[in-house]
Amino acid sequence: MAPGDRIHDVVVVGAGPAGASCAYWLAEAGWDVAVVEKKHFPREKTCGDGLTPRAVRQLADMGLEGALAGAHRYVGLRSLGFGQVVELAWPEHPVYPSYGYTITRHDLDGLVAGRAAKAGAKLWEGTEAVAPILANPGPPPADRSSRGNGGVGRASVLPPCLGVTVRDTTSGATRAVRARYVVVTDGSNSRLGRALGTARRRDYPLGMALRGYFRSPRHDDPFIESHLDIRDPGGTVVPGYGWIFPMGDGRVNVGVGLLSTAQRWKGVNTSALMDTFVSWAPKSWELSPETACGPPTGGKLPMGLAVGPRVGPNVVVAGDAGGSINPFNGEGIAYGYETGRLAAESVGAALAGGGPASVLAYEQRLEDEYADYYRVGRAFVRLISHPQVMRACVSVGMRSETVMEGLLRIMANLMRPDHRGPSEIAYRTMVAVAGILPDPAEPDHPR
Ligand SMILES: Cc1cc2nc3c(=O)[nH]c(=O)nc-3n(C[C@H](O)[C@H](O)[C@H](O)COP(=O)(O)OP(=O)(O)OC[C@H]3O[C@@H](n4cnc5c(N)ncnc54)[C@H](O)[C@@H]3O)c2cc1C
Repeated sequence: MAPGDRIHDVVVVGAGPAGASCAYWLAEAGWDVAVVEKKHFPREKTCGDGLTPRAVRQLADMGLEGALAGAHRYVGLRSLGFGQVVELAWPEHPVYPSYGYTITRHDLDGLVAGRAAKAGAKLWEGTEAVAPILANPGPPPADRSSRGNGGVGRASVLPPCLGVTVRDTTSGATRAVRARYVVVTDGSNSRLGRALGTARRRDYPLGMALRGYFRSPRHDDPFIESHLDIRDPGGTVVPGYGWIFPMGDGRVNVGVGLLSTAQRWKGVNTSALMDTFVSWAPKSWELSPETACGPPTGGKLPMGLAVGPRVGPNVVVAGDAGGSINPFNGEGIAYGYETGRLAAESVGAALAGGGPASVLAYEQRLEDEYADYYRVGRAFVRLISHPQVMRACVSVGMRSETVMEGLLRIMANLMRPDHRGPSEIAYRTMVAVAGILPDPAEPDHPR
């Protein structure tokens, strides 16, 4: 049998957090998994490099917490806004640790992909998926991304797929990788997902972020720092946030993130915003063009399950390719690991005899796990997109440590399942309120 004729149980496209986690859990369960990754590890990936307790939990479950020993461990979040500062430790939780790590994606992603390979997945680096092999080739999917809900939440599903055509990035040679199930985890641009028919809801928030590294005497600060009142060069507050994440290796990761829900999004120049943030950040960090380690790079953050459809009879979409970033805080690594794991469980159940029904159930599992929370997150993002509301919330909230503690728990999705404390009660109230609020359509933004 020629290599291209072999039919794998699963082909996973992309070995970032979502793909590597999916491949690990499938390989661990004994399935024949091929992972195609267009880059070679270690590789750079633009990110804030912040792992929250949710991400740490997933890494620990994959047996990788020991491998983080050299990474910078931090204990909580310092928030600054409109002249106020609040420093909060990660809360106690029965499931998640009360610490996080910072680690470059250069170092992290190869670790997890390597773990999947050690569990038995075939990891083909330098191998780019260029097109799906459709079971019933026909005209390309209609462009549903131009307006409105982009197919998400409709009954529509992705078409059946026999595998992917891949290109060796060194030789340029192409070949077919065939599989019974296809997992799409190719990140926020998701070329393969779009070729299959996914589209982003333009009425959902989209983040746009830029980050760079700086040498800093505070590189091993025990808190990550978030700035809630970033300004454009004219001094006007914009809907977004700035961050300074100590890396523990002599550097800090500094970035700005913008939210697409405001009309003013189009006018904001993110590079200028970054320069302004760098010059305006607390001097003790010593951020300046002289301490910069290189020019900043940026990327998009599809949030709140903004991309769909996420299933077909033998296809699932996870991570950024499915828009799984948390709208509250722009965190996507943990949700990549989690949705990759859910995808693996659904595909594993399908392979074990459940067939397409098990794959289609993935969507329901996503809904059960995230729908309420992300609906609240989207409402939150719309609210804070109004600078006056943002200012009022920050200045009132930051006067009370209890409010900020509750908010941290909600924003990092660390509510306790076993306890009804103030944050859990506040969150249930938010779910109820968000349920009766409309999700209004937003102006068009480029995908
Ligand atoms: C500036 C910025 C800062 C961020 N900061 C944080 C943070 O601090 N903490 C956090 O939790 N999240 C952060 N995020 C979000 C986080 O980076 C993403 O949510 C996360 O990387 C999603 O993982 P993924 O596996 O879905 O996609 P990715 O990490 O993008 O992985 C996709 C993989 O697929 C590969 N690939 C793509 N196309 C193909 C193809 N055709 N064939 C084969 N392989 C392919 C890519 O090379 C890549 O390895 C940030 C994002 C940005 C842009």
